[in-house]
Amino acid sequence: MVLPIELNKRQERIVEIVKDHGPITGEHIADQLNLTRATLRPDLAILTMSGYLDARPRVGYFYTGKTSAQVLTEKIRQIQVKDYFSLPVVVQESATVYDAICTMFLEDVGTLFVVNKQTKLVGVLSRKDLLRASMGNQELNTIPVNIIMTRMPNITVCQKEDYLTDVAAKLIDKQIDAVPVVKDTNGESAYEVIGRITKTNITKALVDISGDAII
Ligand code: ADP
Repeated sequence: MVLPIELNKRQERIVEIVKDHGPITGEHIADQLNLTRATLRPDLAILTMSGYLDARPRVGYFYTGKTSAQVLTEKIRQIQVKDYFSLPVVVQESATVYDAICTMFLEDVGTLFVVNKQTKLVGVLSRKDLLRASMGNQELNTIPVNIIMTRMPNITVCQKEDYLTDVAAKLIDKQIDAVPVVKDTNGESAYEVIGRITKTNITKALVDISGDAII
């Protein structure tokens, strides 16, 4: 869940009160606003979860001193692969280049992951890998994809718990469009593919964050 960074008037008032009088209990904040503690509860929850305020039991609320830009940066850094990944589209390593082209068109993706008979990741196929193989080649129906794919161990992967910003850095650093989300199968260095992160997922995260934020 991405929390709103833009505060409403009441939340801004609460932040001001806590800035001036903190540490201060919820009860006392409510008194200052002529409201009940129950009415304030959702606002206080939002302010603590989004990082503007901190709360200590029996002490009360205090101001963290974070600017909205800092709060926003922290929010972005906290986004994990599991919050945004899509389903993977895979082909068998015995599939032909022609099959892979059809799959890429039909599934409307830009990158395919190649798996072996045990469904473990063995390769990656990009649009240009398939275009390159097609140029001047009449045998697309017979050439298996494992001849043209980028293969293990040269595949950049990520895991569900990784931070999305780290995956974004990998995409830029390696100049690739997608990485498979994998599950390590008992450290056998054989990966099961459970998802994909592409530039589209990262753009989606950016749109969600900026839709919620006013810096
Ligand atoms: P395109 O080749 O269509 O521009 P990419 O930039 O994603 O698409 O791919 C560039 C090259 O990097 C291709 O040869 C592809 O096989 C390879 N590649 C793509 N994704 C990965 C990855 N996650 N790990 C390693 N190599 C990859």
